[in-house]
Amino acid sequence: MPEGQIVKALSSFYYVESEGKTFACKARGVFKLRQQSPLVGDYVSFDQVNEDEGFITEIKIRKNQLIRPPISNVDQAILVFSAKEPDVSTLLLDKFIVHVEKAEIKPIICITKLDLLDLAEENKLQNLLQTYEQMGYSILKTSSKNGKGIEELNEMLKNKISVFAGQSGVGKSSLLNAILPDLQLETSNISFKLGRGKHTTRVVQLIHLSEGGMVADTPGFSQLDFHGIESEELNQFFKEIHQFSDQCRYRGCLHLNEPGCAVKEAVNEQLIDRDRYEHYISFLKEIKEKEENK
Ligand code: GDP
Ligand code: ZN
Repeated sequence: MPEGQIVKALSSFYYVESEGKTFACKARGVFKLRQQSPLVGDYVSFDQVNEDEGFITEIKIRKNQLIRPPISNVDQAILVFSAKEPDVSTLLLDKFIVHVEKAEIKPIICITKLDLLDLAEENKLQNLLQTYEQMGYSILKTSSKNGKGIEELNEMLKNKISVFAGQSGVGKSSLLNAILPDLQLETSNISFKLGRGKHTTRVVQLIHLSEGGMVADTPGFSQLDFHGIESEELNQFFKEIHQFSDQCRYRGCLHLNEPGCAVKEAVNEQLIDRDRYEHYISFLKEIKEKEENK
């Protein structure tokens, strides 16, 4: 039975790529019984019924899956921030990191519109990013305007399945246009922007990069509300905090006010960045509040 990957979903059709060809496939009823539906990104088996159509018969186990955009088997999320107007918010960055880590996707921090910064501002930005560099996160500095960092971005995206994330206006569409020069500029802009509309039915698509790999044409992680994230697990998504947590006196320490907390000690000894810790605490409180109101 032929196998392939779904690269596009449109009405009730799934477009499956297999050995260089695309097949318009429907899902068999068996998926409805199991309350499972195919997702863009899924590796599938299908029954070929004619030259370019078929029926999906099996969905291979997913590495991960996102709800928005509905897509599976994502390798990495490019977290896009604008260097200026608005300035980079590490609170928002940490929120993104938590959500991306929870989804088991590798975060890549991308600061764009770098052309807007003077040298002093760039140094300030560098200081801000140092914490993240030390934690081992990949950081890119780009400008769609002067082309800075676009080559590095291309290199990062190579042979991976990537989704872009970030607030509106930070420069995601411009970056996509810079890495996909063949894509019709307008179309890409429109489809990328439509993704924000609440009630717009739209296509979700993975677009091939010329050097291998694919990117989702819809930005991801538009809702950062900690849905599905529990207070006990939050520290896992702050990797430097997590490192210290098994040295706390109590198992299941939330690093809030518990005695003998190794995390708080590490913050005091400046082994953990204080801003990061404070963001952890503010997210923790938000999650706990939700849990108590359940
Ligand atoms: P999106 O909403 O995240 O997709 O952001 P866009 O790509 O639509 O960009 C928002 C605005 O920022 C537009 O006016 C762009 O022209 C501008 N912009 C995007 N990238 C850059 C850049 O690298 N440098 C400068 N100076 N402006 C940019
Ligand atoms: Zn602790």
